[in-house]
Amino acid sequence: MPACDLEVVAFDLDNTLYDETQYFDAAFAVVAPYVASLTEKCAAEIEARLVAIVQAKGRHYHRLFTDVLEEYRLPVERHLPEVLARFRGIRPRLALFAGARALLDDLRARYRLGLITSGMQAVQENKVALLGIGDCFDRVVYSSTLPENKPSALPFRHCLESFGVVPGRAAYVGDNPLHDFHGPNQLGMLTIRVRNREFDGIPVASGWDARHRVECVADVRRLLL
Ligand SMILES: [Mg+2]
Repeated sequence: MPACDLEVVAFDLDNTLYDETQYFDAAFAVVAPYVASLTEKCAAEIEARLVAIVQAKGRHYHRLFTDVLEEYRLPVERHLPEVLARFRGIRPRLALFAGARALLDDLRARYRLGLITSGMQAVQENKVALLGIGDCFDRVVYSSTLPENKPSALPFRHCLESFGVVPGRAAYVGDNPLHDFHGPNQLGMLTIRVRNREFDGIPVASGWDARHRVECVADVRRLLL
């Protein structure tokens, strides 16, 4: 591992630095009663559907609330904005994965750090604030605001350019082989995959997996420190 050549380490957020299930659990407790108030169903049934869709489609599925509104024959255009407002406005207690904060602090002494996260900017900003990690990163890229989101290489190129660093001197740490590694691999960045059991059984095409794998994010320490 040529860690001595690296200048920049960028991270994915959801399920790389913390378990996004914490955010979903808190959000569903708020969103389900709201959707229930628009129907004749009870909140527990709506919440069960939300949980079932996440289990079936994965936590990265972006049509979760649209699907639920459509299932209950509620006009999506009319109700989705309020659902999303409630989703991004929750203030749950979020905790980083074990050892993640110490890892970021120690990496900061040696590298410049970036965050490249997809998802709605307001939601991702909320998570960064709730996790208390805004001060860890020199650059934060909300890739949903760019012309192309992950898995395109564009968000990664954007991040590198903002640092003024060549790809060979940068690493990206993520969890999702469908989103996180194809772009940085194409550019020539070092890629590290933190295990997310959701993707354990998913076949990954050539070029889409990371060059290195670790069991948990704290293990990145072994590779880069
Ligand atoms: Mg992720």
